[in-house]
Amino acid sequence: MFGRLFHNHAESLPHQRARMVEEQLRARGIRDERVLAAMAKVPREEFISAGDIASAYGDYPLPIGAGQTISQPYIVAAMVEALELSSQDHVLEVGTGTGYQAAILGELAAEAWTIERHAELADKAREILQRLGYANVHVVTGDGTLGLPEHIPYDKILVAAAAPRVPQTLVAQLVDGGRLVVPVGSRAEQQVFVVRKMGEQITESPREACRFVPLVGEQGWEP
Ligand code: SAH
Repeated sequence: MFGRLFHNHAESLPHQRARMVEEQLRARGIRDERVLAAMAKVPREEFISAGDIASAYGDYPLPIGAGQTISQPYIVAAMVEALELSSQDHVLEVGTGTGYQAAILGELAAEAWTIERHAELADKAREILQRLGYANVHVVTGDGTLGLPEHIPYDKILVAAAAPRVPQTLVAQLVDGGRLVVPVGSRAEQQVFVVRKMGEQITESPREACRFVPLVGEQGWEP
């Protein structure tokens, strides 16, 4: 539908977004229609710096300040799909960054809390989410390796930074039957893990390889 022919600077952002969903997400196996619809709706261009607008729907991560990056759209979709969100869910995101993924969570869950260690990123994300009307997304500044005890328990938790191991503090903040999606590995490269909590039983299944900025904090890497 959206041929390569039209892949030029004149293509509107909504068209670029629609084409990103088809070419980067659906074509690579993202199947959850709710996730695809959320990715087709949230304007990624609103979350990145003005100088990067031409790259808003590029198939790569982008710099977002404070030495951090926003993930490539496919990774955002794959991680959110792995959460298997329902519209009743209370979800926690660790690593707000721009707030883009938090907006996707806000589209799919009942309430989303998101925690960011860099106050300047958290403040900017909060302002953008407010402006776009995401009243069910709440941005907090702090060390997300400790979770967010104020609003426990969470049905789902998503970590958007690379952890050295599965953070047990976060597993403890899940409901019974809850699910945690977290990149685990070295500082340089990781694998997405889906962690499920069923009573005393915790299962960990590895998914795609990925590269995230480090999760820095008490239960993460040293600064
Ligand atoms: N989800 C974001 C991108 C995340 S980048 C988006 O959609 O834009 C990873 C973020 O995790 C960075 O902003 C980094 O500052 C943050 N981070 C790293 N360690 C953290 C911690 N312990 N607690 C909270 N945020 C953390």
